[in-house]
Amino acid sequence: MADAGPCWSTQQLTELLATVSEVTDPASLQRRVVEHASEALDAEVAAVVEHDQVVASVGFPRGQAPSELLLAAAEGHLQVLQVEGGGACEVLVADCDGVPGLRLLVARSDGGYSQEERSLLRGTARVLSMALVSSRTVDDLRERQTLLERLSRIQGSISSRAPLHEVLDTITAGAAELIGDDIVGLRLVDPAEPETLLLVSSVGVPAHLTAESSRTPLGWGVGGRAALLDMLVVTDAYTALAAPIPGFAEDGIRSAMAVPVRQGGRPVGSLTVATRRAGRVYSASEQEVLTAFAEHVSLALNDAQTVEALQRAVQEATHQSLHDGLTGLPNRALFLDRLARAREHSDRHGTPLAVLFLDLDDFKVVNDSLGHLVGDQLLSAVADRVVTALRGCDTVARLGGDEFAVLLGEADHNEATVAADRVLMALEEPFDLGTHTVHVGASIGLVTAVGAQVLAEELLRDADVAMYRAKADGKRRYVVFEAGMRHRLQARTELESELRVAVEQHQFTVHYQPVVDAASGRVTSTEALVRWNHPRRGTVSPAEFIPLAEDTGIIVALGSQVLREACRQTAQWRLLPALHDLTVSVNLSPRQLAEPQLLADVEAALTGSGLPARALVLEVTESLFVQDLTSAAARLHSLKALGVRLAVDDFGTGYSSLAYLSRLPVDVLKVDRSFVAGMAETGSAEGKLASVVLALAASLELDTVAEGVETRHQAEALVAQGCTRLQGYHFSRPVAPDLLPQVAADLCARLSLRVPAIPIARSDGDVSAVSAR
Ligand code: C2E
Ligand code: CA
Ligand code: CA
Repeated sequence: MADAGPCWSTQQLTELLATVSEVTDPASLQRRVVEHASEALDAEVAAVVEHDQVVASVGFPRGQAPSELLLAAAEGHLQVLQVEGGGACEVLVADCDGVPGLRLLVARSDGGYSQEERSLLRGTARVLSMALVSSRTVDDLRERQTLLERLSRIQGSISSRAPLHEVLDTITAGAAELIGDDIVGLRLVDPAEPETLLLVSSVGVPAHLTAESSRTPLGWGVGGRAALLDMLVVTDAYTALAAPIPGFAEDGIRSAMAVPVRQGGRPVGSLTVATRRAGRVYSASEQEVLTAFAEHVSLALNDAQTVEALQRAVQEATHQSLHDGLTGLPNRALFLDRLARAREHSDRHGTPLAVLFLDLDDFKVVNDSLGHLVGDQLLSAVADRVVTALRGCDTVARLGGDEFAVLLGEADHNEATVAADRVLMALEEPFDLGTHTVHVGASIGLVTAVGAQVLAEELLRDADVAMYRAKADGKRRYVVFEAGMRHRLQARTELESELRVAVEQHQFTVHYQPVVDAASGRVTSTEALVRWNHPRRGTVSPAEFIPLAEDTGIIVALGSQVLREACRQTAQWRLLPALHDLTVSVNLSPRQLAEPQLLADVEAALTGSGLPARALVLEVTESLFVQDLTSAAARLHSLKALGVRLAVDDFGTGYSSLAYLSRLPVDVLKVDRSFVAGMAETGSAEGKLASVVLALAASLELDTVAEGVETRHQAEALVAQGCTRLQGYHFSRPVAPDLLPQVAADLCARLSLRVPAIPIARSDGDVSAVSAR
């Protein structure tokens, strides 16, 4: 019997339910049940005992049932019954939980009850008590029939081998209909994590709580308690529970009731009903109905086919837990697992392996300015390109955000660098994302190893460290890990937390570098350059902390402090006659430009200081346009609309084409220092480029500022080629604000003589020591 098929026990119960739904009086019910039990279990004897009375039995001639023996067997005092014609029969007893003192027992000559037979007897006892209770408490015959119908529908869907989720949904839908509550949840223990319950089917759980309730610790909520304590749990004050599920408590759940779901006699989950209705109290019959229901769920789980299906479902969930939902790539956990195995392989065979840690450059800018949808599209497209650029046997994983990792099995140093180059090249082409064309670069850290001396986590961390180096070296490149890099990462982490404190405590000051007007020799503008007065380290150079501030987003708060201060200071200087037309340039990082807040920040800085908008120049770098010209242009236009002027900083070092210049509302080009430095050597490529840039600017009628002018020779050559303004140590280093008026006056006095055109003397940039007179 027991081996007649995996659905055998549930079929038996389906049949039993159909049978008992037709009878109403307790005596006939009990009779049907013992008949059914003896048949289903092939037992010589079956009996129902209530307290000290045998109320129904089969297997004995009429009126000759040995009451005392049966009662003793039901109490557990007798394991074997001597039956005429059957010999020694082994006894199996099940409590009818809902009805105190009621027990169902069978006895058969070839004992050895299987697990499934034992649960069938429990299920049969359950059906009996449920039918008895419902005949007593559920007065309405129709209601009782609904209950039984629901149960047989569930049994039916199990017997017909419906997909597991359908069976489970039939259960929760059935419970919802029977109890009439709006919320029902069926939870099962996560086999991979026995302290956690998975919500495998539910009705009426609000959308915003599905994530929160999909995995809950055993013991949480009524469902968690029922599973933990293996008993019925009822409350009409949900929030007063020892450990309510926080989201549900906030959602206004008042009353809830849960029963354990068992497998092989042990609790493996729970079935919960709940409501927000005030004053809801669960009656004994409702408690009974839910208990009966859960017993059927238990039987469904005991069914071999269903268990298998459940395991498959869990495997699927496991796949999900090891892969990234967006790209479908392995996630960090799976990557580390593969890496650990590759290390073992490497150890055994002495073959090398390599890990690449890849982080997109300025992804945050794309994400913040074009939205998460475009950001997600970009990440998927990047994932595709990286995978295509590598061999099929390499593992590409997404670690989170815009971080990816690559495991190159059996790859030596050379092969690894070739692979890193291939990845970088694959990302070079712009990404066509429908509405936007986006450029994105990547920084890659590379580490190779042989054997298993280093842990998988350590290898990945080393590659991560090298990646940071690649960022610091200017992005869009790979850097090979060296041991010395490790403590630099630690320093970086320290610097980040110090930087946050610095923003809070306003440890920044702004210095100003004069910009000289070539025609008049006057200082008509300055560039605001931030300085960090570190409490321990003294003045820290922006080159050290600006890149980190950009990566961490700290630049947004920092930049707005600089902007406000520069506007305030310049407005104040403009009150001096000599500086009445002074303007100021403030650097904006790409990250700041992506910030929707920027426009309001600029406006506030202007109105707060009274500085006219035309006296403010905002410097942006080309990298901004490289990413997405269309949205960058839109942002710059709205800034322009405030009346400020815009400059392209470090012009000529970016990757963009010159074509964008005509599309952007730019007023000033700042010729990068490297071109100016090149002018020292006659005929150098950089020197020639400077002339080209200046000619281009002239043709577009743009103002030009040459950066990093360090010698008189450079200054003269630049002016000869039409450069209108000059900035550099040759004139002045950036200076503290209290020094600026004097420095400007000295410069003006010195330069306005203009004979010879520009002074030669220079001593360490100390302008006061410079004298043309
Ligand atoms: P930048 O915008 O290109 O600023 C010019 C840098 O060149 C300044 O370095 C300046 O001191 C330096 N410099 C000026 N003349 C000469 C010269 O003749 N020779 C040489 N070798 N260098 C010269 P600083 O102040 O260290 O700033 C470095 C970078 O940090 C700036 O480059 C800018 O990109 C960034 N930065 C500074 N302040 C801010 C800020 O408030 N916000 C943002 N986003 N970035 C800032
Ligand atoms: Ca600048
Ligand atoms: Ca610059």
